[in-house]
This record gives sequence, structure tokens and C-alpha cells, in this order.
Amino acid sequence: MSASGLRCRVCETVSRPEPVDACRRCDGPTDLTYDWARIARDVSHASIAAGPPSLWRYDGLLPAGARVEFGAGWTPLHRADRLSELLEVDLHLKLEGHNPTHSYKDRIATIAAATALDHGVTTLCCSSTGNLGHAVAAAAAATGLEAIVLAPVGGEAAAVAARHPGARVFAVAGTYDDCRRLELELGGLFPWGFVSGNLHPYASEGAKTISFEIAEQLGWQLPDVVVCPAASGTLFAKLAQGFAEVTRAGLAAERVPRMFAAQALGSSPIATAFAGDRGISRVEATTGVASLAVGDPSHGDLAIGAARATGGGIVAVAEDVIEENTALLGDTTGIEADCAGGAALGALVHAVSQGKIARGSRVVLVVTGARPEPVESDVARLTTITPDADAVLSALGLRS
Ligand SMILES: [Zn+2]
Repeated sequence: MSASGLRCRVCETVSRPEPVDACRRCDGPTDLTYDWARIARDVSHASIAAGPPSLWRYDGLLPAGARVEFGAGWTPLHRADRLSELLEVDLHLKLEGHNPTHSYKDRIATIAAATALDHGVTTLCCSSTGNLGHAVAAAAAATGLEAIVLAPVGGEAAAVAARHPGARVFAVAGTYDDCRRLELELGGLFPWGFVSGNLHPYASEGAKTISFEIAEQLGWQLPDVVVCPAASGTLFAKLAQGFAEVTRAGLAAERVPRMFAAQALGSSPIATAFAGDRGISRVEATTGVASLAVGDPSHGDLAIGAARATGGGIVAVAEDVIEENTALLGDTTGIEADCAGGAALGALVHAVSQGKIARGSRVVLVVTGARPEPVESDVARLTTITPDADAVLSALGLRS
């Protein structure tokens, strides 16, 4: 564990690393700081290669001390020969569907659970469009923590409940953004670990291990371009941070790849702000791609910063184009990607056709999740609630 403090993004005050919602001085968002002198001394290609085949091989660059292991990370990087030929680039796919619950969110949940154990927190709570709920429930099952999942009714809530009988799943009558607001409200009431709240600076660090793996799997060389889907903007920003840290730690010499993000057109506040060179306005998310249906992106500003700083871009991809490219991805690689992967491929095809990515560039496309098998949903185990804290209190038997 190398995290040395929490630094406020606004007033730059550094405090002890512990689960807090925001800077105690100005209420600003916080990021972890690391002891880079120690990292340069302790972390090497050899020390990483000697580590386990999971994200913990990068423990020297991660915040948590506790080891939570349910198999997250060290996913394949796969050369896509036919798509490379078609697009005239050297295309590699980072297959995050190989994680235990089939998405990169297992990395987030692993660090969230480890941080909870480090700090004596016994309950993990998250808002989820689906993938994070599965991941948090799995991490809780692996550690004996309690999991509380808030998911929009009618979406993946029933599947999370069916696959993870130990988790407490609430189907919230509202959108993902309503779930987030409810999570914030519960944060004032319970001493839980909130994956998007007091645990967020830690948990989100799990995403940067994708960049570490890409670098290691390319023989410690960085690609020219990285493309991934963007909903809250956290993954995109963390990927850019991860590549910068690879270089900062002395593990690679190249500059951060040009970063391109894909949003679904029906939920594209980050792409709209990027195109108009202005601040982010929240929108009503109307996309059919559940994992991209975030209208109020918590880290959209960081995502825009990453795209601008690296000479990349943020592309809004229409629903029919997402569908076409999800099929293209499957038809040319045999990979069963979810539609977020199709959105990312749509953005790549667009950037290539616009001449924004040069022929022959080495490109990594992050396929964030696999298409899950449908499950027999156990609706009887689901508690459907309105998006307010009183409903949660009643359901938990804490209010008569
Ligand atoms: Zn502050």
C-alpha cells in the first residue's frame, strides 16, 4: 500500500487517507496521493511479474492493504486481426468480460471491499445500472461484508438479486441518477461504505489497473490510442491517470496515449460539453444501453480534461450505430461484448473515418463487459422502493 494521503482537488489540503465523503475544509472532491519516491524504489517490472495473476500484482500502486481476492483483473489483451485489417490500425481488445462478474467493475468492487476491511466498515452500498451491483455483491460475498445494492426498477435489479442471494437488492422506482441521490441521502444516515461516496477515491483506483495491464501486456510500451465507453466519466479519467502513473513510476517511457471516449447519443452530456467547449449540463438519460444511461456524470469534467490533455476526443454514438458495431465486434472477433463495447467500436470507426487516428496506429479498445446470460429472475426477493431514505429505513426494519 503506497497511498499517503487524500488531497482536495479544490483547496489542495492533504489529510490522512480514510473514508470521508469530501474535503473537511471546503467540501471539495478528493484524490489519493502516493509516495512516488517509495514507488520508484519498490516497484519494478520484475516485482510486478512476480505478483499474482490478478490486479494485486500492482499492489505497490494501489491504496488498500487488505487483500480481497475473487479473481478480478489480469484479463486478456487480444489482437483483433480481422478488425485491424478492416480499420487499417493495429487493434487490440482489452477483454474485461473475463472478470468474475463479467465487467471491469470487479476491479472497483475489489478495492472498495479491501478499503472497507482496512477501515472496519462492515456494509458496502452502491448505486448501479447493473454491472457494479453484481461486482459489489460478489466482493461482499467473498469477504463476508454486507452488500446493499440500489438499482433502477425494471433493469438489472432482478438479475443482481437472482445471482447474489446474499445481497440486499433494492429496485428503486426511478433512474440511475435517482439511485445516486438516494445513496447520498443514506450516506448521512449510516456508517456504511459507499462505493460512489466515502469509498470512491479508493474504489475508483481499481480502474487504473486496466492501464497497468495494457502496458505490461504490450511489453511495457504504451499504445498510441485508447478507446473506451464513458458513462460517469470515472473509467476514462482513471485510464488516463493509470497511463500517466506507469510513466511516473518509471515503468514505461512513452507519453499517455491519445484517449477517446464513447457515449451513447441518448445519454451524452460529456460528449455534448466536449463538442461545445463548455461545462456539463445534466440530461435525462434515454439510451437503451443500461450501462451508459447516466445523465448526471460525476466525473465528466475529469473525462473532458483527459481527452483534451491527450489530444483525444469524446464521441456520441447513435443507438443504431451502437447496435451495428456490437454485431460487428462479435462477427469479426467472436467476442460476446455488451453494447458498451459496440459504442466504443462505433467511436473508433468514426475517429478513423474522420482521419483523427492515423493508419497503422496501435490502438487498444477497452471492451468493458461481456453480454451476460439471462437469468431466471427471482422477483420475490426484490424489494421495490421509492427513491427516498425513509423507504430504505422501513425495508431494513429500522422504522415502524
Ligand atoms: Zn478542500
